[in-house]
Amino acid sequence: MNNIVALEAERMIDARGGPPVEPAVVVVEGERITAAGSPAQIKVPEGAKRIALGARTLLPGLIDAHVHLKGWRSANPNDILITPHPLAALRAAADCRRLLHAGFTTVRDCGGCLGPHLRDAIAAREIPGPRILTAYRGLSQTGRVETVTWAADIRPLRQEVDGVDDCRRVVREQIGLGADLIKVSITGRVYAPQSDPGQTAYTLEEIRAVVDEAHRMGRRVAAHAQATQGIKNGILAGVDSIEHGIYLDQEACDLMRERNTALVPTLAYFHRIATLGESHGSPAYAVRKAREVVEAHMNSFALALRMKLRIGMGTDFEGSPLFPHGENGMELELMVQGGMLAGDVIVAATATNAAIFGIEKKVGTIATGKIADLIAVPGNPLKEISLLRRVEFVMQGGRVACSRIPDVAEIS
Ligand SMILES: [Zn+2]
Repeated sequence: MNNIVALEAERMIDARGGPPVEPAVVVVEGERITAAGSPAQIKVPEGAKRIALGARTLLPGLIDAHVHLKGWRSANPNDILITPHPLAALRAAADCRRLLHAGFTTVRDCGGCLGPHLRDAIAAREIPGPRILTAYRGLSQTGRVETVTWAADIRPLRQEVDGVDDCRRVVREQIGLGADLIKVSITGRVYAPQSDPGQTAYTLEEIRAVVDEAHRMGRRVAAHAQATQGIKNGILAGVDSIEHGIYLDQEACDLMRERNTALVPTLAYFHRIATLGESHGSPAYAVRKAREVVEAHMNSFALALRMKLRIGMGTDFEGSPLFPHGENGMELELMVQGGMLAGDVIVAATATNAAIFGIEKKVGTIATGKIADLIAVPGNPLKEISLLRRVEFVMQGGRVACSRIPDVAEIS
């Protein structure tokens, strides 16, 4: 018989859009949730092991829609060249543990060369970490990538590719090498010396080829898109999510609503480069460009909220002290500061992200039949969103992955 566990807490936010349930019980059998709701309505099976979470709030495990698992420890991209590859891989493994212990039970790796390997090691329970969906190496137009890829033969983080036919070929190649999704950079960027966030990169035809090939193979497409026209090209070509979306305008929002394209804003990324980049050794061009875009980005976020776009939550963190894995919850605080209601931010970081990935039947809410990825935080995060950075209990697939509650650690 499956191991049955009953989690009891003062409050549950199930991320299905309704009010919190107070108090609440969630019954977990094996790796799945078999019941969730008010204790008055739920019959806890005989012999179930009880986990009393006290004055805490139960939520679905958090999901970050945009991370990089590169094991970076410096804000200067050139430093990766003097980092031995096995060391970077070990650091990325440590980042996976940090993410899980911070309550992130699923992440989407939007480009790097370690994603499929970390995903497989975690799925086989060889190392602790979140469920990973990986883009493996993202596609980028030639000449648009970081300085480090001047040494492209050493460790390509992105796949430079141009032209309709070659774009198709590389999408096939990435999928063959284990990519769960395709990441494509369709505009310029902040963190590269050779391009600007206001510039388009791939042509509409190239993006269409990428999307067509990816969708035909059952993979979703996440597009790094910052420039207004580039964003529109992406939406028209059918990408599934616009990552960053710095320069949205009314027409872009109308198109996104029409086509149900999701936005993953990554507010913390630019905010941290602009405010802390200098002291962390970010290249001067990145600091300058981040400062130039921060205000426009926040305005675009406000416009997206007014337009009721489908908004997910992603950080673009990659592990350096400037973008530290484990502190990804700071994005939630910025989203609230940007005008989003705390309850909507929680839905963005759980249910909406799961839907953006196409795994909403498995994870993202607390509901019967879902995989038991659950977290608990002290107090009420609807009143204080920063509590989501104080995760005290993490259950992953029905197993207690981390507990900072003394009695519960013993029970598990
Ligand atoms: Zn990124």
